[in-house]
Amino acid sequence: MKAVAAALGLIALPLAAAKVSYKGYQAIHIDTADDLAHQGVAKALKGLNYVNLGCGGESDHSGFDIAVAPDSLSAFKKLGLESKIVREDIGADIDAEGDITPYVSMRKDNGSGALPDIAYFDSYHDFEGHLQFLKDLSAAFPDNSEIFSAGDSVEGRPLQGIHIWGSGGAGSKPAIIWHATVHAREWITAPTVEYMAYKLIEGYQNGDETPKATLDNYDFYIIPVVNPDGFVYTQTEDRMWRKNRQERDGARCVGTDVNRNWPHKWDVDGGSSPDPCAETYRGEEPGDTPENAALRNHTQAVGEANGIKFYVDWHSFSQLILLPYGYSCSAEADNIDQQMKLAGGVAEAIKGVNGLNFAYGPTCETIYQTAGGSNDWVFDIAGAELAWAFELRPQGGGSGGFAIPPDNIVPSGEENWAGMLNLFAAF
Ligand SMILES: [Zn+2]
Repeated sequence: MKAVAAALGLIALPLAAAKVSYKGYQAIHIDTADDLAHQGVAKALKGLNYVNLGCGGESDHSGFDIAVAPDSLSAFKKLGLESKIVREDIGADIDAEGDITPYVSMRKDNGSGALPDIAYFDSYHDFEGHLQFLKDLSAAFPDNSEIFSAGDSVEGRPLQGIHIWGSGGAGSKPAIIWHATVHAREWITAPTVEYMAYKLIEGYQNGDETPKATLDNYDFYIIPVVNPDGFVYTQTEDRMWRKNRQERDGARCVGTDVNRNWPHKWDVDGGSSPDPCAETYRGEEPGDTPENAALRNHTQAVGEANGIKFYVDWHSFSQLILLPYGYSCSAEADNIDQQMKLAGGVAEAIKGVNGLNFAYGPTCETIYQTAGGSNDWVFDIAGAELAWAFELRPQGGGSGGFAIPPDNIVPSGEENWAGMLNLFAAF
């Protein structure tokens, strides 16, 4: 799946008055050999009631997955496209995610500096729960962490993060920056980075070698939910919502893809969409979402202070480690050999935990062209040494896609933490 894939056929569902039901929606993988084939498919799908689930090739990442509504299934079959059903009922997958568990505070012993209860990772939580968990985490490491906000979303929610440092004191070392949940429906990403933040602090407090050395040498800035409005919307209205919740004059559809909005190579043809109804809508102007402005200003400030060693934008799903560049398949990062070597080590370490395969390589070659993506901006403009995007478990829509049961959270955290430890040891 290549250039046009990101720009075509990504029509969002109309706004629904009540919570959207995905009962009976089938996830279908469509094979597309090349751009031309993909364009044909996108045209053929016009008029059908479906949601684009993105690039979902089970092994070779060719083609893409869509979720087709029950009332459009027979029309889809009549198209005779080369495709296969990978998931029978997305509504059932969403049910299997379980209830959103309220989290007030699960600290074992308020005030004593104890880490929050690890049972937090047994279920999915609402936005307030994520805010509180991060505060509890910081309270457990009071001399070496602080809560910050990079800025506010369209609807005024904070892009809250935790800043964690080691023996050098706050803000004295090059940065490691992690962002998650820019795409609202990618629920596994926030608890995965929160789990790793937990492990970093726990490891440091235990005197474990790699967490200790890494935190003494780098300042961590971790924002688990960078698209809070979209995230809240997935829990109250539409589980498969991807974009932010920005309304625009004259536009029929709501929402901009904040990860097509970064002001660098923003309008490269084929890597995003100028259509406000598309899932990859890039915005009217480069960087014109409040969320992007907040993330950009924070990242720039941190980079200017002490440099950026490593940036990750955490996504799901497909099990991939994506390196610069997204905007072009011919442009090559100057340190691509080093980045590939390190990514290979990370993939090996991830596999060693639960046996999952994570493919890796430059974004454009590995999945498709993306314009205005975070890692290109952070690499070229903010000058990060390593600027990656991860696509977490599962590998394909056949394993549940965006909606996977909460018993995936701890394994996802464990395998990616092993990957990070491998990387940190190689710094
Ligand atoms: Zn994503």
